[in-house]
Amino acid sequence: MNKFSWYDAKTVNDALEQVNATVSEVLASKVSDQSAVFKCGGTDLLDMMKEGLVAPKKIVNIKNIAGLDAISYHQKSGLKIGANVTLAQMEANAEIKQNYLALHQAVAHAGTPQIRNMASLGGNLAQRTRCWYFRSLDHECLRKGSGTCFARNGENEFHAIMKNGSCSSVHASSVSTALMAFDASVEIAAADGKKRTVKMTEFFVTPGDDSSRESILEANELITAVIIPPSGSKTKSYYIKQGARESYDWAIADVAVVLEVSGSKCKNANIVLGAAAPVPIRSEAASTALIGKEITEQTAKDSAEASMKGATPLSKNAYKVPLFKAIVKRAILKTT
Ligand SMILES: Cc1cc2nc3c(=O)[nH]c(=O)nc-3n(C[C@H](O)[C@H](O)[C@H](O)COP(=O)(O)OP(=O)(O)OC[C@H]3O[C@@H](n4cnc5c(N)ncnc54)[C@H](O)[C@@H]3O)c2cc1C
Repeated sequence: MNKFSWYDAKTVNDALEQVNATVSEVLASKVSDQSAVFKCGGTDLLDMMKEGLVAPKKIVNIKNIAGLDAISYHQKSGLKIGANVTLAQMEANAEIKQNYLALHQAVAHAGTPQIRNMASLGGNLAQRTRCWYFRSLDHECLRKGSGTCFARNGENEFHAIMKNGSCSSVHASSVSTALMAFDASVEIAAADGKKRTVKMTEFFVTPGDDSSRESILEANELITAVIIPPSGSKTKSYYIKQGARESYDWAIADVAVVLEVSGSKCKNANIVLGAAAPVPIRSEAASTALIGKEITEQTAKDSAEASMKGATPLSKNAYKVPLFKAIVKRAILKTT
C-alpha cells in the first residue's frame, strides 16, 4: 500500500474543504496524484487501496463528524438516517424493523456482523462494484477506461442479466434495493454550502451514461443522510437476498417489494431488483402486473414473470432468470 496522510474532519464543511476527488475519479486517473478522498468505515476504500486499484495521497476521515450518526423517525415526516450510521445500527433500530421491514431485512443480510459494524450507509451507496474484472489489476476493463467488458464473453455467472449492453457488472449495494423500493432520497452537501436531495432512482449512473462512475456524486460532495417517506399501516414490505452461499456474500439476486394494500388487494407496488442490472432497478412491469389485483399465488407469479421481461442473460448467468422469478413471487406472497 502507498503512503498517505490522514486528516480527521470535524465538520461537514471541514471535510469538504479537504477532499479534491471521488474514488471513481482517482481510479479513472482524472485527478493528479495529490488526490484526497473520503473514508468512513473503510471497508471498501481500504480494500481498493490494498488491491492496488487506487493510491490516494490523503485520506479524509469523516467517521467522527458530529451529527451524521443519528437515526430519527417521525410518523408524519418519515425516517432520516445519517450517512455515518452503520449497517449494524440500522439493523438494531426498532423503528426501522417495525416500519420499514424490507430495509431491516436488507441490512441484516449484508456482509457479516463485523462488516456491518464498520460499514456506513453513505459508504454503502458510494462503494464500487465487486465485478472481479473491475477489481483485477490485470484487466483494464470498460469501467477503468478501455472499451472492453471482459465479463461479456468471460466469467459472467454473477453479472447483469438486464441493461447489460456495455458493462455487465452489478452494483454491490443490496441495501439500495430496499431504499429504492421505499422511494428514499439521498441528501448531499456541497463545498459551497449548498445541499441537494436526490431520489434513489436518480442517484445511480448507468454505464451507458458514464462507465467511469456509478453515482452522481461529485468530488466536492458528501452524502449527509438518507430520507425515507412515512410508511403507513397499509404499507407491507419484504426483502429477499440470494447469495451463492448462506454465509457472507454479495447478492447474486435480490428483491425488495413495497406494497400499499387494502385488505388483500394491492393498491400500489414498488418492486426493485438488485444484482439484475448495473444499477438497482425498479421493475415497472412487475409493479403494473400487481397493482389493482388481489394478492394471490397467480398474481404474484404473473408479477414475477413480468419482472424478467426483456432479460438478456449472458453465457453463464441464465440461471438468474428463474431465480429472480422465484424470489419476486416469494417476496410478494410474504407480504400477506
Ligand atoms: C465481505 C463483504 C461483504 C459485503 N456484503 C455486502 C452486501 O451483501 N450488501 C451490501 O449492500 N454491501 C455489502 N458489502 C459492502 C459494505 O456494506 C460497504 O463496503 C460499506 O457499506 C461501505 O461503507 P464504509 O463506511 O466502509 O465506506 P468506505 O470504505 O469508507 O468508503 C467507500 C466509498 O464511499 C465514499 N464515501 C464514504 N462515505 C461517504 C459519504 N458520506 N459521502 C460521499 N462519499 C462517501 C468513500 O470515498 C469511498 O469511495 C460487503 C462488504 C464486504 C467487505
